[in-house]
Order: sequence, then structure tokens, then C-alpha cells
Amino acid sequence: MAKYDRLYFENLEKKSLAPYAVLSKRSKGRQYQEELDPFRTAFQRDRDRIIHSKAFRRLKHKTQVFVIFEGDHFRTRLTHTLEVAQIARHIARMLGLNEDLVESIALAHDLGHTPFGHAGEAQLDELLKDVGGFEHNLQSRRIVELLENKYPSFPGLNLSQEVIEGLLKHFTPFDHSDDASAEEIIHPSLEAQVVNLADQLAYLNHDLDDGISSGILNMDELVAKVDLWREAQISNEFKYQNLNATQTRFLNVRYLINLMVNDVTANAQRKIQENNLQTLEDVYLCNERIVDFSPQMKKRIVFLQRFLHNQFYNDYRVLRMMVKGKRFINELFVHFNKYPQLLPPNEHQRIREGETQERVIADYLSTMTDNYVIEEHKRIFELDKELS
Ligand code: MG
Repeated sequence: MAKYDRLYFENLEKKSLAPYAVLSKRSKGRQYQEELDPFRTAFQRDRDRIIHSKAFRRLKHKTQVFVIFEGDHFRTRLTHTLEVAQIARHIARMLGLNEDLVESIALAHDLGHTPFGHAGEAQLDELLKDVGGFEHNLQSRRIVELLENKYPSFPGLNLSQEVIEGLLKHFTPFDHSDDASAEEIIHPSLEAQVVNLADQLAYLNHDLDDGISSGILNMDELVAKVDLWREAQISNEFKYQNLNATQTRFLNVRYLINLMVNDVTANAQRKIQENNLQTLEDVYLCNERIVDFSPQMKKRIVFLQRFLHNQFYNDYRVLRMMVKGKRFINELFVHFNKYPQLLPPNEHQRIREGETQERVIADYLSTMTDNYVIEEHKRIFELDKELS
């Protein structure tokens, strides 16, 4: 008998985690019942299934802000996902939460993202407005419950319920006070809340970093206009001499990540006490977001977000590529919808089985990488392209 088996790790969780953490042994289980793994806990197994999925591999060529051929050191969905997992695990550890669950949710959180970032998502949402729309969190769920299709005894990855709930971050009581029905609302674990927060924390900082290194954002302007950046700059100038631009950019971003992580951890600890959270049940019943920035930090972050929005996401160079991506997705969608016989056999099969044609096309297009959309566009519209 191996010493370090599932029972050992389940026991370790029980001994070492906070009383309000999700224990893998007490998981609500999977949709299709399976035998337990002898060595891995439920959430360790979930993480492994996500990493071995096709949708996960495709994140490497999906846009975060820049398309891959615009520069090979910018973030992609994959590196964004890894940064979210790193930050989320760190916060989880400091709060005594289940790191394996946090890691699983983080690694799966953007699986449903379309090619060409939010531009692709907005385009598909517009095209599907009469048949339920398109939303990337819901699509992440479709992928892990339905579209990854390789296990003989169930569709999808058959993940633990807690991981799936963690993907539905816009369906929490904090996001929908009264405009959603009770069964649509999920009550997120603190682990799910950590990933949600880490997602925001990661993108704010890596977009600053990519924005500057691409030359679109200017550090002098940041010092003048963004107080968070100014604080980081002053602190680093005090600590180090003669920093070059690359070092300044890196050290300031590092400072901000630390500042935000520490803020959110201290604030969450305070809220756990204030709300007297003793057990996981207390967490599920709590109507307040626990893992969040302090009110002061939130104000500063809203300002930074607005700055990024105006100066970076809406910069003409970023917008040009996004509009191009939208056009490619739109043209492919309209063409496939008019000539569904051009779709591959697997998609035909799904339409025959009763799935709406528009939804099948959206599933097909949304799983593609940026590069694949461009290739497919050539195959469909260019005369001299071979049929492969
Ligand atoms: Mg994300």
C-alpha cells in the first residue's frame, strides 16, 4: 500500500485547511458516478482532466489582447490562465482554502473563450441573439459538460460539481440581486471567489505589462495619471538606483500584484471574521462577497480599469485587429449557416441529433484558435486553397 494515497491527502486536507474550506472528501460529486481514484483526491483528478483536454491546449493560440503573430512575448489565454492559477493558489493558501479546487477552477475558467478575445465573444453573442446568445462562462461549462468528447462512459470531463459551480462566476447572488430566478443562482465557495478575484487581479497587471511593452501605454503618462502606478514607481525608486525601463516596468507590476494580493487577503480575513464564517455551510449561506478588494483599493482599481479601457483596449491598433477578428467570425458563421453542408461530419451529426444549427456553428467556431479561424477562412473563401 502506498503511503501517499488519496486517503492520505484527504486526511491532510482535513487537518490543514480552514473549517470553511471545501474538502474533496465532502464533494457533492460528479454527474456520472465513477469509482474514486486510489491516489488522487477528487479535485486533483479534475485538474488533471482539464490539463489533458483539447480545449486547454487550444488556449495557447487564443487572444488575450494581442493576436499571437503580433509578438511572441505577449500574454495568450494560456499564459493568462497560468497566471490566474498562480495568484489564486497563493491567495487560497493564505486563507487556508483548498488549493487543488482553486487550481482546477482557475485552469478551466477560460476554456470557453472564443478566438479573438472579447471581440469574438461579442460577435457570436450578436449572431445568436435569437437563440439564447453566447457567453464565455456558460461556454466553459458546455465544454467540460458536453463538448470534450473522449471518455467512453460520459460526455465532457465529468468534473466535480464544485469545479463547475466555480465556472459560473456571473451567476452568483452578488451579481444578480433580483433579475435571476433562484435556481439559476449558485452560491460560490470561497475557492470559487478566489479564482474570480485572481482573474481580475491577473489581467489588470499583465495588461499593464503588455500595454507598456507593446508601446501603446506610456510609463510617464501612467505616473502622471494612475495613482497605483505612481505609488509603485515611488517605492521602487526609493529602493533601487538607475533602473532601466524594462526593470521599472517589471518591478512596478510586481509591486502592484503584491499590493493587491495582500489587500484582498487581509480584506477577506476581516470579512470571514465579521460574518462569523465557521463552516462551509456558513459560506454557502452568506450573501456577501467575502473574497474582494477593500473599498479603498476597489476605488483605485476602478480608476486603473478605466485608464486601461480608454488608453489600451480602445487603442486603434488593438481595435483594428479585434474588428478584423469579428469580421472573420461573422463571415464564417453566416456562410456556414447558409450552407450547413460545408460543416465537418461531427457538426452534421450534432445537428441531426437535434441541436440548433446556430448553436452547433457557434460551438465549432468558438473552440477554434485565432490561427485556425484565419486558416478556415482561407479554406472557405479562397479559390486556390486546397481542401484539407
Ligand atoms: Mg480570465
